[in-house]
Amino acid sequence: MSHIADKLTLLRRKMTEQGVDLLALGPGAHMHWVTGWHPHPDERLTLVLVSAQDACVVGPAVNGEQIDANIDLPLHRWKDEDGPEAVLARTVGTMGKIASVALDETMRTDFSLTLLAILPGAAHTLAHDIVGQLRMTKDDAEFAALKASQQINDRAMQAGFAAIKPGVTERHVAGAIRDAFAAEGAEVAFALCASGPNGAFPHHSTGDRQLQAGDAVVLDIGAGFAGWPSDMTRMAAVGHLPDGYAEIHAVVEAASAAAMNAARPGVKAHEVDDAARKVITDAGYGEYFVHRTGHGLGLEIHEPPYLTSSSQAVLTEGMVFSIEPGIYIPGRFGIRLEEIVILRKDGPEIFSDLPRDVHIAR
Ligand code: ZN
Ligand code: ZN
Repeated sequence: MSHIADKLTLLRRKMTEQGVDLLALGPGAHMHWVTGWHPHPDERLTLVLVSAQDACVVGPAVNGEQIDANIDLPLHRWKDEDGPEAVLARTVGTMGKIASVALDETMRTDFSLTLLAILPGAAHTLAHDIVGQLRMTKDDAEFAALKASQQINDRAMQAGFAAIKPGVTERHVAGAIRDAFAAEGAEVAFALCASGPNGAFPHHSTGDRQLQAGDAVVLDIGAGFAGWPSDMTRMAAVGHLPDGYAEIHAVVEAASAAAMNAARPGVKAHEVDDAARKVITDAGYGEYFVHRTGHGLGLEIHEPPYLTSSSQAVLTEGMVFSIEPGIYIPGRFGIRLEEIVILRKDGPEIFSDLPRDVHIAR
């Protein structure tokens, strides 16, 4: 079975469960997950349509060759001078009885309204509950793609470590990381370098601060490779550790280990957050752990499931998410340790091969 046929089988099972007759996806991550590709999103209506018996694309004739070359579904083309309405209505009219439609929640509103106008009275819901649910579980090919992306991240992180020395700026270290990603054909999404007190801002904007001996340095970096993102945070120090650092790093490490131990198929996402948060709170740093423990990662760097203290989402085998507890001490430093893991039957498998120890740059 081809890639797209597998996805259509999964989609139709969900659509039947939820009483959805038609799924409509615009250019974006949902379309990419189903078809392996998505065109540049713009004002020309492009929709992947899936019903119980049919699946096709409605798209602009001007992009017809490109869509045909990349998406293995029949294409119904509309011309600029005609607009999409007639072709769309004719196409949907051949796809069986449509009493309810699931719309891509990320697509342009005018695409949704154009489709709804030709389905008067149809119930509508969001594709999130169908495609979004399925996207949380990664198959072997998706795991391999994410793993390849993460291995580049490991090397870019080491390039960041190598660039750290007294007197260089955060921007310089981030530049070395960007260069390392680019040299391997990866597209940089972010290269955060937060030194000394800047590390206490979980999402510091990398700037011109010069690194000094005794700084702790947070490196949180990510890039897309063949469309699949990576994400990792490691710690470094310039010359030597700042006062009090080792103790707090050990607490964050213990929180990470506790979250890894809690993450099993069948547990709720909040139980993983609870496990990390308990370690940090018991050590007296609860007020300094100011964010959720993790987020899902797939075609998008942040996607469900989110590992918050309130999430009732049930973790299942094959889900990919981050475990990234942190402690941020205002005016001094921050420490975050972030792994991306895939949940296996007996627990998380970490993508990265890089240890979580602080790298002391000498
Ligand atoms: Zn992350
Ligand atoms: Zn990150």
